Amino acid sequence: MNDILSMYPDELTAFVLELGEEKYRAKQLFYWLHRGVPLERMSNIPNKMKEKLAGSAVIPSVTMEEKRVSSDGTVKYLFRCHDGEYIESVFMRHDYGNTVCVSSQAGCRMGCRFCASTLQGLSRSLAASEMLSQIYAAQEDTGERVTNVVIMGMGEPFDNYDNVIRFIRLLNNEQGLNIGCRRISLSTCGLADGIRRFANEGLPVTLSVSLHAPTDEQRNAIMPVNRRYPISVLLAACREYFEKTGRRISFEYALIDGQNNSEKDAQTLAALLKSNLPGMAVHVNLIPVNPIKERDFRRGDKKMTEKFVSELERLGVNATVRRRLGADIDASCGQLRQRRIGEMPQ
Ligand code: SAH
Repeated sequence: MNDILSMYPDELTAFVLELGEEKYRAKQLFYWLHRGVPLERMSNIPNKMKEKLAGSAVIPSVTMEEKRVSSDGTVKYLFRCHDGEYIESVFMRHDYGNTVCVSSQAGCRMGCRFCASTLQGLSRSLAASEMLSQIYAAQEDTGERVTNVVIMGMGEPFDNYDNVIRFIRLLNNEQGLNIGCRRISLSTCGLADGIRRFANEGLPVTLSVSLHAPTDEQRNAIMPVNRRYPISVLLAACREYFEKTGRRISFEYALIDGQNNSEKDAQTLAALLKSNLPGMAVHVNLIPVNPIKERDFRRGDKKMTEKFVSELERLGVNATVRRRLGADIDASCGQLRQRRIGEMPQ
């Protein structure tokens, strides 16, 4: 079966021609598909064509299994894919618009110690259509338009490289959601090859890299990926990306008490970034770690965080502490899926 929601317009045109339909039908079909409209409600598509589509194409959609609404308006969804896989998405309201945080994989195989998404390993990567469906389902549920997308949900986007690129290009499409790259962010745990490859795509999305530690020893302890791409290799790829695209990278840093949140860690981090990324205005996004019940990681007190920020700024590194939305609903990705899988007989 052909996943027509993942197709680029030219691919959809070829498919429609193969069905023996006229070219302009592809345009109509693309329009409906990317408004999240199911086949039966596509009003200007003739029944005969719908029958042909029903026999040869699928429109992968997600169904809502669970929904939690936070006191701050953030909505967390647990969606179910056609094959029973669970994925999570978050809808957030900001003054500049509505953002959806999408998952790129069901589960994850990167193994970051503090992250709930990776506890059961990777089930499978998602198709571009399944990433789009998360947004269409959130739009339908809230009745609001999504203007911004962050690829920061479950999964490692560069471990599903081709589908993620396809997803971004489909988001960009004028006949689709028409969301420009500047309103899209992508976060990677640091697959250096992916970063290098991404530099050549000509997609000016905001790139974030999850660094989380200032030395290889500390990073090895919490992020297995560091053994494959140690910090020097990762930052060399970041430098190459910056030199090629002129776009600065922002670094994510989860503050974990007793592991990476001392004043000395802040100094080592500042020195590391300044020496490896000359000329780049570095920005660090600090996230007080969100404790998960499977692991004993705690966040430091507020004072430690403030000290960490002021030390970075004193050394010329711009830093902000991420505003926490949806803390009361387990909005960090992976926690709902984990609970759901845990409940199921294995
Ligand atoms: N695979 C991508 C996207 C993951 S989620 C990546 O690794 O960047 C987005 C961010 O949340 C990452 O920086 C990730 O390391 C971080 N994160 C995951 N679990 C967390 C937790 N329990 N507390 C704080 N940050 C966490």
